[in-house]
Amino acid sequence: MESPAILARRAGGRKPKSRSGHRIGRLGAPRAGLSGRTDVLVVMRQDAQAAEIEGVVRAIEARGFKAHPIPGAQRTAIGVTGNKGALEAPVFEGLPGVLEVIRVSHAYKLVSREVKPEATVVDIGGVRIGGPELVIVAGPCAVESLEQMLEVARRVKQAGARLLRGGAFKPRTSPYSFQGLGKQGLEILAQARAETGLPVVTEAVDEQSLDLVEEYADAIQIGARNMQNFSLLRRAGRARKPVLLKRGMSATLEEFLMSAEYILSEGNYQVALCERGVRTFSDFSRNTLDLSVVPAVKQLSHLPILVDPSHGTGRRDKVAPLSRAAAAVGADGLLIEVHHDPDRALSDGPQSLTPAQFAELVADLRRIAPVVGRRL
Ligand code: PEP
Ligand code: MN
Repeated sequence: MESPAILARRAGGRKPKSRSGHRIGRLGAPRAGLSGRTDVLVVMRQDAQAAEIEGVVRAIEARGFKAHPIPGAQRTAIGVTGNKGALEAPVFEGLPGVLEVIRVSHAYKLVSREVKPEATVVDIGGVRIGGPELVIVAGPCAVESLEQMLEVARRVKQAGARLLRGGAFKPRTSPYSFQGLGKQGLEILAQARAETGLPVVTEAVDEQSLDLVEEYADAIQIGARNMQNFSLLRRAGRARKPVLLKRGMSATLEEFLMSAEYILSEGNYQVALCERGVRTFSDFSRNTLDLSVVPAVKQLSHLPILVDPSHGTGRRDKVAPLSRAAAAVGADGLLIEVHHDPDRALSDGPQSLTPAQFAELVADLRRIAPVVGRRL
């Protein structure tokens, strides 16, 4: 993967397209982006000192912008965002330790590979998503009781899941459907974590529940229906826990990445994306799982992406084949609903695997993972 500096050098000469197919250019000839302003990336020299990086951050902030230092394998780059109008870019070019200043042409900045060529690894309670491991998140759709959660947690752990899921706050289509156990559900999840050692991922549906989820869980899930709840995204951006952001059911790739940008722009860089199917005319499955978004995300962004074939298909018999396909297409992990008694599940029973089916699927994935350069 090329460094921002290499991309910038190339851009300075022939103004070629970056790997992602989007133009980047030097600030000599600024063009306003979608927002009508120019956003830039200050690329530091490889030997830049911490004090020089700090100096650039202060210079950016002194002009009313927000500085986002992004340490890379080779050098640090500092993203500049803000909505205060045009930047006087040459000011930054002259500062000590600065190699060059490049303009970022995407509407999204901080999530872009232009800005950070190296893949981001999201650490959820010590489990790393976006590295060599294919990470499996499993558990029921909803937390229903302590007995249910402990039973499922033990079984998925035994089969090879690395993270435990289960909704305590459920965003249901009908107000009459089971809405989740709320805080009690979070306490049950914490008990299941204590019992199994599996870190917990669970959804926050509003700012109030996010406060609680942040306190109890190891990662905060933002669901498909909330992908464009911008105040919730901003709150997640101020959280001290990683975020699992699911794609809205009618979101374009750019909208998906812009939603992640909201979270990063508030200072939380620990964001994993999750494809969970989109609405199409196709009516044989609950949603249409868009596996082609995985390589597209990989090209445009440094953030990891998981695939959720449970919501993506809505049908138990489709979950295993689509999971295998997701692993093959380069997903960083899978999110799979498992219930010990799916016929009696309070939500999403028809798409939930039994623990035995889940174990069989993990065995298949163990064979596929090494072929695509992953471990499981
Ligand atoms: C879930 O993960 O249980 C869920 C509600 O997913 P989505 O937001 O993708 O519908
Ligand atoms: Mn569900």
